[in-house]
Amino acid sequence: MDYQAFSEFIAGLQESEIADVSVLTRSILGREIPLITLGKGKHAVLYVGAHHGMEGITCGVLLDFIADYIRQYEKKTTVYDYPMQYLFEHRRIYVVPMLNPDGVEYAVHGVAENNPLRERVIKMNKSEDFSNWQANARGVDLNHNYDAGFLAYKRKEAEAGIVGGAPTRYSGEYPESEPETAALCRFLRFQREEIKGILTLHTQGEEIFCSCEDNLTAKTMSVGRVISRFTGYRLARPEGLAAFGGLTDWCISTLCRPAFTLECGKGKNPLPPTQRPLIYERLRRTLFSFSCLV
Ligand SMILES: [Zn+2]
Repeated sequence: MDYQAFSEFIAGLQESEIADVSVLTRSILGREIPLITLGKGKHAVLYVGAHHGMEGITCGVLLDFIADYIRQYEKKTTVYDYPMQYLFEHRRIYVVPMLNPDGVEYAVHGVAENNPLRERVIKMNKSEDFSNWQANARGVDLNHNYDAGFLAYKRKEAEAGIVGGAPTRYSGEYPESEPETAALCRFLRFQREEIKGILTLHTQGEEIFCSCEDNLTAKTMSVGRVISRFTGYRLARPEGLAAFGGLTDWCISTLCRPAFTLECGKGKNPLPPTQRPLIYERLRRTLFSFSCLV
């Protein structure tokens, strides 16, 4: 899934009366980051895909969900015990399918000749092969750029020899230093009252993470167990560098909302596109039900 294919899908939604499309912000390189809203309720959840460059498949999975939601709504069906009419009227699902379009483009197509950051990022990457790129356009790993254990992570980062922009795991100069994370946090703070839970999709491992901390509420734990049952993914705790500065940690510690990282699919990143329908099947029930679980 590259930015072109993503943009074509979004353009196809412009006429839809079911999905509302707005723009969360623009990336470092000026690409629009769309936000799709499904439903009119005041009880909302947020799904975020493609924090990481080589995880564009998670965007595809969220687009499959949006298309499925629209189809089911048009048919007025009942999905997993929830009538679509009820979901639409009483719940609201915000979706940011591709938070890091620049990173996805690097991973899929490499760095364009006319990219003003080209020299700099080739140096960071130590190669012109960008197929394993995870960070944003200037080498900040967006999922370490949130204000959750940021200083503790800085120390670990230095120990790991990461001192500046890199293909993965560099957290940036300060939390929310990047337009992508800053806009998402601004949105979440603004909608704090209505947003009851957050799901973030990554690849891979078929695991669910809530947080490295021990302050999880009983509700978060019980929702986590339900999602684990729905997906067949194992509930786990992140270890090492993965355990700091992520969106899930920030949502739990700052917004006090149940939040989960879903490590989708199994194999070696980037996962082949053939995994997309399989991942969607595993996540489908969770994506339709989450707004009623939290
Ligand atoms: Zn990831």
